[in-house]
Amino acid sequence: MSKRQEGGLQAPTRHPIDWQNPEFYDETKLNEELERVFDICHGCRRCVSLCETFPTLFDLVDNSETMEVDGVAKSDYHKVVEQCYLCDLCYLTKCPYVPPHEWNVDFPHLMLRAKAVKFKKQGASLRDKLLSSTDNVGKLATIPVVVDMVNAANRTPSVRKVMEKTIGVHTKARLPRYESPPLRRRIQNDLGDRAVPAGRTSGKVVLFSTCYANYNNPSIGEDLVAVLRHNNIPVRLPDEERCCGMPKLELGDLESVAKAKEINVPELVKWIEQGWDIIAPVPSCVLMFKQELPLMFPDDPDVAKVRDHIYDPFEYLMLRHKHGKLNTEFRHSLGKVAYHAPCHQRVQRIGPKTMEFLQLVPDTEIINIERCSGHDGTYAVKREFHDNAMKIGRPVFRKIKQAAPDHYCSDCAMAAEHIANGLGDGSEPKHPIQLARQAYGI
Ligand code: SF4
Ligand code: SF4
Repeated sequence: MSKRQEGGLQAPTRHPIDWQNPEFYDETKLNEELERVFDICHGCRRCVSLCETFPTLFDLVDNSETMEVDGVAKSDYHKVVEQCYLCDLCYLTKCPYVPPHEWNVDFPHLMLRAKAVKFKKQGASLRDKLLSSTDNVGKLATIPVVVDMVNAANRTPSVRKVMEKTIGVHTKARLPRYESPPLRRRIQNDLGDRAVPAGRTSGKVVLFSTCYANYNNPSIGEDLVAVLRHNNIPVRLPDEERCCGMPKLELGDLESVAKAKEINVPELVKWIEQGWDIIAPVPSCVLMFKQELPLMFPDDPDVAKVRDHIYDPFEYLMLRHKHGKLNTEFRHSLGKVAYHAPCHQRVQRIGPKTMEFLQLVPDTEIINIERCSGHDGTYAVKREFHDNAMKIGRPVFRKIKQAAPDHYCSDCAMAAEHIANGLGDGSEPKHPIQLARQAYGI
């Protein structure tokens, strides 16, 4: 007889996302599953401090007539769903009931299903379409001359007020700048002929530039390329690239995620088959290829190939360090660095590789901060969520203020911008790869 256990003791596994099955979109079935999982969460409450999703749920339950989940109106379930930004932290850091536990709780992917059902029924607002169309908006906004107009408009209070009123982008949210030319026009391709393999790394890298580094912050990509080349790793770009699909996933627009995959995966596989590894400088984009696409397309061997050959930048450098292939001749110390580990990197289960790298720099003290910054994709820029985003980020802002560091940084440059907004002292964040380049003195 199997013994029922309180909480899972085995490593979490995950079931594929059954998004091509018509039952996935059956609202009655979805509501039954929401009620089942909400009931487990209501009895558990471990996740209450992670985000606004759980406090919203528990308030609905506590204020209902029965004070149980059955007292919550089904029409209120969406209030819970809309607070989830799919960071995955509850799944990987808190929940004892994830598979293989028999209760089979996958809270983020249940929220994703609810978002997908809503998207199928209602589509998305103009604001959400704009925020998730990173490729199209980025292409337009980085046209010379247009780029200056867009940046000026995004910093003009009267324009921002109109934006808040008309499309719901909060006036106080820090919108990323656009830069021209984009990263993809700044990088010269290396040949891979001087690559030195080490462990499972081939020693030659295709840089999936990502929309953010391409259009908003090309210097992250340039710093990464400089650090890789300084470590004798040839770098090139893929011939073609689309948004990884993460902003569309956040909306529940799974068809658009699939369309982007149809462009990106064959292109990346083409290079993997020629012996190149893949790196992307934004943790959410790496996670898309490492986790979400493999769960959406569990039988696609090409998706699996990309999953097995894509790396976080510092994961890659530290994998090579294991084999003596990291240049550790640092010329400059960094002093005191407050380092924020973003959720989408933490849930890759690679360990604190960025921190481990920065700790190799002599006379450098790292203050590690493992808490949500509150940025969370597009959550922080939305009128209805910005105040929550600032509240979620407050412990991070406080810790940085207390530490009074020489630099603060996050692998997620958007989270770093949100942190700068929360600090509100005019200081500018760094990216860890920028600090790495600075430490090398290159
Ligand atoms: S995935 Fe993140 S945002 Fe969503 S419920 Fe879990 S902790 Fe909250
Ligand atoms: S997701 Fe898991 S850990 Fe979090 S409240 Fe629900 S049951 Fe508890």
